[in-house]
Amino acid sequence: MERTGERNFFMNAEIIAIGSELLTPKRVDTNSLFLTDELNTFGVEVVMKAAVGDDRERLAAVVKAAVERSEIVILTGGLGPTEDDVTRDAVAQALGRALVYREDLCDAIEARFRRMGRKMAEINKRQAFIIEGAEAMPNDRGTAPGLWIAVEANRVVALLPGPPEELQSMFARECRPRLAQLVPPLVIRRLQYRVAGMPESDVDQLIAPVYKEYQNPATTILAAPGDIQIHLRARCETDAEAVALLALVGARIEALLGDRIYSRGGETLEEVVGQLLRNGMATLSVAESCTGGMLAERITSVPGSSDYFVGGFLVYNDAMKIDLLRVDPSVLERYTSVSELAAIAMAEGARDRTGSTFALSVTGIAGPGGGTDENPAGTVWIGVADQRGAQAKRYRFLGDRTRVRRLSVQTALDTLRCRLLAPAGAGIQRARPNR
Ligand code: AMP
Ligand code: MG
Repeated sequence: MERTGERNFFMNAEIIAIGSELLTPKRVDTNSLFLTDELNTFGVEVVMKAAVGDDRERLAAVVKAAVERSEIVILTGGLGPTEDDVTRDAVAQALGRALVYREDLCDAIEARFRRMGRKMAEINKRQAFIIEGAEAMPNDRGTAPGLWIAVEANRVVALLPGPPEELQSMFARECRPRLAQLVPPLVIRRLQYRVAGMPESDVDQLIAPVYKEYQNPATTILAAPGDIQIHLRARCETDAEAVALLALVGARIEALLGDRIYSRGGETLEEVVGQLLRNGMATLSVAESCTGGMLAERITSVPGSSDYFVGGFLVYNDAMKIDLLRVDPSVLERYTSVSELAAIAMAEGARDRTGSTFALSVTGIAGPGGGTDENPAGTVWIGVADQRGAQAKRYRFLGDRTRVRRLSVQTALDTLRCRLLAPAGAGIQRARPNR
């Protein structure tokens, strides 16, 4: 446990969302997302989140552990008047403090009911109990007051109501000014890289020696099929320092990953490719077999894609490949549709038929059935054609049908990105039969 007598440079926070409904598939804890965003603006990092059902003992145990670990603990929910609202009791128990009745709070709650033309129910009196030593935070949207408890000089626990509009209003009015007092002024800045065409383990092996040197910025790697995100978070006293620190570490990471990085601002691969096409005043068409339109779907999900995307061919069987793309029937007969020459003929066919600058093709076996010894499920050929010629590459993707198809699309988009970045003079070797 890390505790210091003076103000900690880095303050960490934990959020505890209370409510049995949050442990069902029906309700989502959105309050913690709001709170995380707010805390980050103070340079406070949220290091733990918990959702706890309406159970006093369990909650008390969670609160006790949280207060020992983190300087700021924020609880949301369970401040209502009913038996299942146990937050006040549980926190009092965890901190070893008594609950004290506050006449003035009871009056305020009663007055609120009077304004609504109603009489306060006896059970609402429970909301007038506060934890010894706590400051009550008025609720302008509901009856339950919040509580702010300075546990030690640099350690607080805040109890906020569950309904999001009550919580947000109370946070803005009551918590922000208190946090400004408590937290040394820090800024958090983020930098994000996205990488395609590399497995997570390869990315990590390459950049871990760099990011492990730094506790600040903190690095997180998020992996999705064919798409790795590297997030750097710098916490510094000034914005300029944070920017400089991210630039320093970022430059080292960029030097290692080079053009495997497709995005520095969080843009998606289809957005990046679209921008490259637009910059080059180029157009694109696609010929899809095993991805069944998913590639065109990704490309056209970008607003304004009509600037560069002309259209595509969904050619699932051989006859369609021959009819629509004029693929030579003898190529399909000799090499099958899952072959280098088929992928090349599809890309060239799409380009010829549409007059687009670039064309992509995807043909493969998405699985789970349909594989052979030579071409097991997951075998996919991805082709690209432009005025320099056409080429195709064979991939073997592992996973279920959805994963194979997603990876195919991602790889096709990355193939085009690399083609768009290749120097203008770079020719494409005309492929020869692959067997
Ligand atoms: P409570 O304060 O526990 O009585 O919560 C009252 C209402 O706020 C319920 O309708 C909850 O679903 C909602 N609520 C409670 N906690 C959260 C949360 N963490 N995120 C979003 N809504 C919540
Ligand atoms: Mg509740």
